[in-house]
Amino acid sequence: MQVANKLAVSIHYILTNSAGEQLDSSRGAEPLVYLHGQGNIIPGLEQALAGKKAGDKLNVTIPAVEAYGEYYDDMVQTISRSMFEGIDQIELGMMFEADVSHGPGIVTVTKIEGDDITIDGNHPLAGEDLTFDVEIIDVRAATADELAHGHIHGAGCHH
Ligand code: ZN
Repeated sequence: MQVANKLAVSIHYILTNSAGEQLDSSRGAEPLVYLHGQGNIIPGLEQALAGKKAGDKLNVTIPAVEAYGEYYDDMVQTISRSMFEGIDQIELGMMFEADVSHGPGIVTVTKIEGDDITIDGNHPLAGEDLTFDVEIIDVRAATADELAHGHIHGAGCHH
């Protein structure tokens, strides 16, 4: 069975950035299972996997724009510490849900200077060209429930 829309695809992957640093890997754990054609994974990887079958291996580099998007300077802003109501301790790397220029999103604290807190609304991997070393483990039909929900139901996940 070839990877196509509405199929459940299991993959093992190793993710590296353009500097060759490993960012993520499914090796040593369960493979990632996703529903193809539903935007469950980044668009560039979905495209690269289309038409492949179980046992196929590929190494593909996805440009940032087809991965987590370009890095936008205007999604970085400095706000006053007083905006963080109810949070006693603000630390580098903390993530918050906030209203950013494009609507609600996740922001990360990237700089703290006294009462000036810099937050970044870019995805942590925005602007990165990503290389995926992928092995396709399994391709199966999705269940009716999975298709209705637009995602895969793993063990212990029923909703
Ligand atoms: Zn569901």
